[in-house]
Amino acid sequence: MRRVRTGASFDVLVIGSGASGLAAAVSAARAGARVGLATKTTLQACNSAKAQGGIQAAFGEDDSPEVHAEDVMRSSHDTANPRLVDVLTSEAPSAIHWLEELGVEFTRQNGGYRLARCGGASRKRLLQVGDRTGHAITKALRESYEAGSGAELPHHELTELRPTEHGWSATFRTKDDDSVEIEAGAIVLGAGGRCYAEAETRGELSTNHPNATGEATRIAMKAGAEARDLDALQYHPNGGAWPATMQGYSIPETTRAYDAVLVNADGEEFTDSLGPRDAVSQAIFEEVAKGKGVLTPDGRPAVWLDTTRIAPEDAEISLPYMLRRYRGAGIDPLAEPIYTYPVLHYQNGGLVIDEHAETTLEGVFACGEIAGGTHGRNRMMGNSLLECTVFGRRAGRAAAERARQ
Ligand SMILES: Cc1cc2nc3c(=O)[nH]c(=O)nc-3n(C[C@H](O)[C@H](O)[C@H](O)COP(=O)(O)OP(=O)(O)OC[C@H]3O[C@@H](n4cnc5c(N)ncnc54)[C@H](O)[C@@H]3O)c2cc1C
Repeated sequence: MRRVRTGASFDVLVIGSGASGLAAAVSAARAGARVGLATKTTLQACNSAKAQGGIQAAFGEDDSPEVHAEDVMRSSHDTANPRLVDVLTSEAPSAIHWLEELGVEFTRQNGGYRLARCGGASRKRLLQVGDRTGHAITKALRESYEAGSGAELPHHELTELRPTEHGWSATFRTKDDDSVEIEAGAIVLGAGGRCYAEAETRGELSTNHPNATGEATRIAMKAGAEARDLDALQYHPNGGAWPATMQGYSIPETTRAYDAVLVNADGEEFTDSLGPRDAVSQAIFEEVAKGKGVLTPDGRPAVWLDTTRIAPEDAEISLPYMLRRYRGAGIDPLAEPIYTYPVLHYQNGGLVIDEHAETTLEGVFACGEIAGGTHGRNRMMGNSLLECTVFGRRAGRAAAERARQ
């Protein structure tokens, strides 16, 4: 590194510009804090923007936050923290209205939201913005933050956290390889998970953005923060396996919500296609191990996702991006089944937090994929964007309050 210079100081310094960091930055700014938003590369670079499927919230007539919470606990095999789950599901409807207020337009149908049932859910609860839900949410949050007076610090990669007399000091590596120190009354970590790095180490495919490398978790732990379930990594049951340009693509779970099913080489259904993610991934691994899978043209193991069962009108409303990608690659999923195999997708565990998203370090908050407990050892689809919004909002508010003290 070339030289050390001291940068600005803030009430609240948010690290990471995915949905969780953006939600925290917007909410801290609205709570009156002077906010800095530092991120490893550009503000747009994150996993959140790649999220397609949707976001869960109990709006159905037969649904409630309690039923949503039961589904989360069951999918986590009772390993989730019930207090965090209660916050997640009870604040879900208001989090959706907050996103709408910021400009997100969820797909509607018959005067209400278009709701789909996702894996592990007992009710239809998944709201969507076509199949670019994460893009819509991050765009609205980013535009809201940019319209305020908060500072943006792109190309600031966190390398160290140290306590100071009045809060915390964060050290960053910049694009020019400078080292910059910034002080803040409180820190919010929204730096995401580590599945991109983990997949590289294992020689596997991942759905993740290259910035998902996990060093912020290690930095917080080095400063003394506790973590949980870090070994519990999630495979997305439906990674794209062929054509080559779709390898590592996460085929939206909404394909299965809209009637696509998993079948083996003999065309037999071998699992509940809408089971919890770990169960569906495991069933695919076992089917292939039994010799009942198929091989992609480049020799990779796979099974079929029979997408021909999706009604064309559902596909056009809820899967237009996925259809465009596959058709662009020469395959029409409504006319033929597609190859699929599980890919590394999500870090279930992370830093231990309380209901206000504060870690075990006073004044250091964590939200989104970097935090653990809300999903236990197995996350349900659609609850991550929700976690980012609910706990990002909470983290921003609580960090602003902490900085005032
Ligand atoms: C392809 C795909 C599809 C998905 N679909 C869905 C879905 O439909 N529904 C759902 O709920 N969830 C979905 N998920 C999961 C969900 O999108 C993510 O878990 C969630 O958005 C993570 O948000 P985040 O803010 O915690 O992290 P991210 O969005 O990953 O953002 C992390 C940010 O931190 C920055 N950063 C990382 N390290 C550092 C550092 N050292 N210093 C500074 N900045 C750093 C990154 O550059 C990035 O800006 C999907 C994920 C993927 C990859």
